[in-house]
Amino acid sequence: MWRVFRPDAVTVLRDQKARKSLSRYFAVVERKLPARFLVCKRVKVKVDLSVSNGELWRAHEQGLKQFRKLLVDVDDGKVKLSDVKRPKVSLLDLKVELARRILKSCHFCERRCGVDRTVGKGGVCGVGERSRIASEFMHHGEESVLVPSYTIFFTGCTFHCQFCQNWDISQYPDSGVEVSPQTLAKLAEGARRNGARNVNWVGGNPDPNLHTILAALNECKTSIASVWNSNMYYSLEAAKLLFGTQDVYLSDFKWYDSNCALRYSKVPKYLEVVSRNHRLAFEDAELIIRHLVMPGHISCCTEPILKWIVKNLGPMVRTNVMSQYRPIYLADKYPEINRRITSEEYENALNIAKEVGLQNLEP
Ligand code: SF4
Repeated sequence: MWRVFRPDAVTVLRDQKARKSLSRYFAVVERKLPARFLVCKRVKVKVDLSVSNGELWRAHEQGLKQFRKLLVDVDDGKVKLSDVKRPKVSLLDLKVELARRILKSCHFCERRCGVDRTVGKGGVCGVGERSRIASEFMHHGEESVLVPSYTIFFTGCTFHCQFCQNWDISQYPDSGVEVSPQTLAKLAEGARRNGARNVNWVGGNPDPNLHTILAALNECKTSIASVWNSNMYYSLEAAKLLFGTQDVYLSDFKWYDSNCALRYSKVPKYLEVVSRNHRLAFEDAELIIRHLVMPGHISCCTEPILKWIVKNLGPMVRTNVMSQYRPIYLADKYPEINRRITSEEYENALNIAKEVGLQNLEP
């Protein structure tokens, strides 16, 4: 049925630019290669999970080197993943343990609240130890390469965007229902059987739920592409834990001017953190960048972001220049963004994208 109202999700399978920039993702979707987290599960780490944080991180570095080697061998057809025994302690087990420890003085994101989420809340995001989801369903409104996308909406967010379209879940971390990693794994496995191209972790934001999602991937036995659909404000430690587990980073790059980020999303150090994480994500796996055009923010944000992408990641990164901004939630407190963008603003944004040399735009 989705093929009728999203024919672009079928034609994109023949889009050579999309295929080139997301080649491994397509191979996972088409069952030619295993999802990265399954490879991560086969990497042996020689460490006792009760040792110090420093020793665990050193073992993690070693494990990542082995992961990259195994991934190349699997992708080149030199090694069949099913021939590699699941080790006693895998790189993914180690990631789950490190995430569990981070939760005790939370620094999953660069807010670095340092709160112990195993004994209560108190961080900026308000997310507790146990993750909560507001909904999960087969999403047909995502980018064409992703549809149908099995999307899981976690409650809570590390930002306070004053115009958030999902404010009823992002700003209310206690909404929704508690969910276990085991349940999430079963849901993802079922979705793949029902034709999902990927499991899409979003919210709110997935970052405060990294411990749950890594544990869910560790439970999941089915090869399904994993998509990290994030505001990209996660910490360096979280970035390292994500390495080797995600097939696609579906990023949000909204602000270039720090004053804009602070005023409208209530977040400091935006460009510093988000640009770093874009570089790391691009080095680790494949990337789709979303840029939401904001009213009156072409010269301060849209233009420099699009230039930054070409300069730092190249012209072939799949980029979605989005026009769907709506002034909702608290936007009426900010007269300058209390309107939709004009057709001239959107045209201008698309022209800039072409002028700066971006060659792989989501149509
Ligand atoms: S995820 Fe970020 S905002 Fe939430 S408690 Fe942890 S450090 Fe704070």
